[in-house]
Amino acid sequence: MAAGHGCEVLLLERAAIPRYKTCGGGLIGASLSALPPGLPLNVFDTTRLFTFSLNGRRERTRTSRTPTCAMVFRSEPDAALTEAAAAAGATVRDSTALATLEQQGRTVTVRTNHGDPLRARTVIGADGSASRVARYVGVRCAQVDLALEVETPVDARTADRWRGRVLLEWGPLPGSFGWVFPKGDICTAGVVASRGNPAALRAYKDDFLTRHSLHTARPLHDTGHLTRCRRPDSPLARGHVLVAGDAAALVDHWSREGISYALHSGAFAGRAAARLVAAAGEDEAKSATDHYAQQVDDILGVDMRASAALADLFIRNPALLHTALTRLPPAWRHLDTYIAGHSSVARIMNTPVARAAAALGGLLPAKPAGSST
Ligand SMILES: Cc1cc2nc3c(=O)[nH]c(=O)nc-3n(C[C@H](O)[C@H](O)[C@H](O)COP(=O)(O)OP(=O)(O)OC[C@H]3O[C@@H](n4cnc5c(N)ncnc54)[C@H](O)[C@@H]3O)c2cc1C
Repeated sequence: MAAGHGCEVLLLERAAIPRYKTCGGGLIGASLSALPPGLPLNVFDTTRLFTFSLNGRRERTRTSRTPTCAMVFRSEPDAALTEAAAAAGATVRDSTALATLEQQGRTVTVRTNHGDPLRARTVIGADGSASRVARYVGVRCAQVDLALEVETPVDARTADRWRGRVLLEWGPLPGSFGWVFPKGDICTAGVVASRGNPAALRAYKDDFLTRHSLHTARPLHDTGHLTRCRRPDSPLARGHVLVAGDAAALVDHWSREGISYALHSGAFAGRAAARLVAAAGEDEAKSATDHYAQQVDDILGVDMRASAALADLFIRNPALLHTALTRLPPAWRHLDTYIAGHSSVARIMNTPVARAAAALGGLLPAKPAGSST
């Protein structure tokens, strides 16, 4: 985005591209529509069926009206996005990690693992959930979870069973769930919960994979990764340094969906960086970073606050959420519309069915704020 606005851009990536990333690789409508038009995308499945279960019981499958959720291997779109940045004029330096950064006046100095000092007018930290830049900016989190995931080859029968189908299982630990995402002859499957109890989460993962016959094959990848959700008042910039995506802890509290947040905040940050570079003085520079923070809050923060309420409801009463999604057609329709990219979590949480569920769970008044009847 910044290169497209005429800035001289250097993209540093710690890994060699294409790099593996622990991720379900599920692209919802909001992610697909935020990708640059024409970006080559290798989609291994587009899921039509959503199977929900409560701790392995009360399994029920709903059908999507407009199948949208695209299953990809993250290394591929991420490499394509890097190529698109290079085509727009960015210089890409992979296998190069940012080690430290400091600011003096309008100059940010970055040192990498190769030791060289690099000077820039602005830096965007999009360096993931263990971000060094986030530590520098002072990002604070309201929720930190641990996700354990395997990517495993499956036989033809298992591939057939999962083709076109996603499984979401509400798990035994508070706020936990397990998933199976199909990608032809490979499935991505994992579990997520609050990071406080890794032994219990590992036990849940083993049980989950065994029950779904995904434990036997030798996995291609068997990894863990933190997901972090920011506090609403957490900073998004310090001076001329911005954070975006997981580095800014922009992730849905309930589903831990983060690709759409990374794509949107990355685009906003790129525009803000171009304004920062062109700023005539500190007032203009501050107005560019303030605008970035406001834009993130107005567009993404609203959804994160709604997803925090949804996650709270889910933690208190997963059975209620399961019943709503599997037994109340409007509840599933709202989620389906969101997955397709035609609604938002904030809009869902303001629908009568969500307000009724939240009222039952003791979270919200049954009527929208401001309603007098
Ligand atoms: C198990 C799991 C499953 C998930 N499934 C989904 C899903 O299906 N759909 C969805 O939407 N979201 C999912 N998410 C969330 C999603 O993966 C993230 O929100 C998303 O990857 C954020 O993108 P990002 O570009 O901000 O960070 P990342 O994708 O983590 O990219 C950060 C990059 O920065 C590089 N880096 C790190 N440190 C440095 C450094 N010091 N210097 C230079 N480079 C550095 C890394 O190598 C990496 O390439 C999942 C997360 C987990 C953990």
